[in-house]
Amino acid sequence: MSDQKETQVALVTGGSRGIGEAIVRRLAADGFHVVFTYNSSSAAAEKICADLHEAGRKAEAVKADIADAGQVQNLIDETIKRGGRLDVLVNNAGITRDTLLMRMSEDDWNAVLDTNLKGAFLTSKAVCRQMMRQRSGRIINIGSIVGLGGNAGQVNYSASKAGLVGLTKSLAKELASRNILVNCVAPGYVKTDMTGKLTDDQVNAFLDSIPLRRGAEGAEIAGAVSFLASGDSAYITGQVLNVDGGLAM
Ligand code: NAP
Repeated sequence: MSDQKETQVALVTGGSRGIGEAIVRRLAADGFHVVFTYNSSSAAAEKICADLHEAGRKAEAVKADIADAGQVQNLIDETIKRGGRLDVLVNNAGITRDTLLMRMSEDDWNAVLDTNLKGAFLTSKAVCRQMMRQRSGRIINIGSIVGLGGNAGQVNYSASKAGLVGLTKSLAKELASRNILVNCVAPGYVKTDMTGKLTDDQVNAFLDSIPLRRGAEGAEIAGAVSFLASGDSAYITGQVLNVDGGLAM
């Protein structure tokens, strides 16, 4: 991380709900000036900002579709303008369009790959120049254990998350000489709107196979992100950190 005294700036995509909200709240509590995106949840984003301002934290929400190159460039320009710098990028925004391959439409495939994988490509590309100029930075991609082990009914989603692992490792190699560290956090099961679409049988199958016998709280994923954004992880790059209660051992 930079040794300048300015407040460090973190950008979190998809911070309006679920795991992203927990990451926003944690990084703000860690002292970052947090800029986060929402796509449709403007009221939820405003509420998070209001809570954090009341607690004396710096947080701002920006509406942006992470799959749209023009909107992403505006988002990064706006973030650097507001914060004066950009230290941490968390690529969290993600969607599912689950169904068996036989029934999966091209649109289901494109929507998931565009948001989950192309979105991370666009944001990472757009922040590189600023982080290189600062000679420091952290990029943290939120993957999934299904990107490592696969999951029936999720060929689009697991391909996008497996792609994030390749993106993480390649970019870590490209940017290490500039002191920019790139890592991936791979959650197992976390109860959010995303997993709220699963049937009870699917949830129970997950829970039965988790050695710790429970899903994660969003705050537990945020704790791993906080570590990877901190000075304590200055010698870690190109890694996938599973936060899954032992599911993918
Ligand atoms: P969620 O509750 O459904 O929240 C998704 C977030 O992504 C929302 O803030 C949403 O914004 C944002 N988003 C979606 N499409 C977007 C787009 N095109 N542009 C910008 N923002 C967009 O999901 P979650 O469960 O918290 O998941 C967060 C991340 O963790 C995802 O990458 C997911 O794949 C990963 N993950 C989740 C689990 C789990 O068990 N929940 C497990 C492994 C990995 P709006 O609300 O404004 O639409």
